[in-house]
Amino acid sequence: MRDLAAAPVSPEPISFIDLQAQRARISERIDAAIARVLDHGHFIMGPEVAEIERKLAAHCGAKHAITCSNGTSALLLALMARDIGRGDAVFVPSFTFTATVEVVVLLGATPVFVDVLPDTYNMDPANLENAISVAQKMGLKPACVIPVDLFGQPVDFDAIQTLADAHGLWLLDDAAQGFGATYKGRRLGTCADITATSFYPSKPLGCYGDGGAVFTDDDETAERVAQVRVHGQGRDRNENVRVGVTARFDSIQAAVLIEKLAIFDDECEARREIAARYTKGLEGVVVTPAVRGDCTSVWAQYTVTSARRDRIVTTLQGQNIPTALFYPRPVHTQAPYRGFPTATGGLPVTERLADEVVSLPMHPYLAPDVQDRVIAAVRAALL
Ligand SMILES: *Cc1c(COP(=O)(O)O)cnc(C)c1O
Repeated sequence: MRDLAAAPVSPEPISFIDLQAQRARISERIDAAIARVLDHGHFIMGPEVAEIERKLAAHCGAKHAITCSNGTSALLLALMARDIGRGDAVFVPSFTFTATVEVVVLLGATPVFVDVLPDTYNMDPANLENAISVAQKMGLKPACVIPVDLFGQPVDFDAIQTLADAHGLWLLDDAAQGFGATYKGRRLGTCADITATSFYPSKPLGCYGDGGAVFTDDDETAERVAQVRVHGQGRDRNENVRVGVTARFDSIQAAVLIEKLAIFDDECEARREIAARYTKGLEGVVVTPAVRGDCTSVWAQYTVTSARRDRIVTTLQGQNIPTALFYPRPVHTQAPYRGFPTATGGLPVTERLADEVVSLPMHPYLAPDVQDRVIAAVRAALL
């Protein structure tokens, strides 16, 4: 007979992101909100869409919030509203999700890759200046910068804005991971000419499907984004004033988002406490993420670096603890993007980080005892 007492106890699996814990908190409100949409039947761009747009704008302090079908289309709508196209250089990090670069290529513009800083993982302003002169030498017109608030931390907006002003560039903030974070007391959504975000379910503020939004203080940009969102429609459906796409937002997703936005600030606070606890438990063992003193992060990911990253991944796997790699293959090394320019000297920080980063379980409902298991496992992996 098998000796049960001696059998190894397989530890409880831990969720990387626990959406069910959040659902348990607000399930009645969300179910009722969805039922209301089913009853009125205005499924696309219904009253909930107008309501969440008002609430999102008020939350971050932007004059306009225009919701749309996902975060990638939010980026695309912004670039189309400003007529980005052939001959334009758009400066992007390579250490990001593909979407940041994909939209630039889709419009026929040229992405120019910029390296990141090793401590914040965000765009390196000095390297941006280098990339701008690379683009000029190639005969491209420097047009736009898309910095990415990676893992939830704002970029160095002041340094990037200074360079943008000097070279006549405008700023499109890819805040798909950063909505809810602050830079010098201002919320993301107000720190660039245009800000794009995503409500993909696993983002800090996510719905139960795809969604996104564009933020701007500029009336004309807001009007153009709204037009491009619906086939370039003008005053009514029989008038097309520009070329657009289908990128409308669903009422059910807006209804879900209204309920989630109501608890979002509280969740952001919980994320910050959890991140601080990770940093305390892991300092000296791995390189913990640096947050600039004048910023708060929304901690879309808690990402550490270690030359022994792969050991962390396998050790945690053995203890039923999931990890994720964002991003093991930088965009400029992927087949569709290999031909595009980088700053001189390539992207050494990006390439090192791709080999060394690992993201740990992170969500607002991560209980201290569960988090302690993760911390202990990382420490044990590197003994
Ligand atoms: C998630 C993400 C996007 C795209 O958002 P989708 O809603 O999935 O289209 C764009 N940029 C970054 C940095 C992201 O993390």
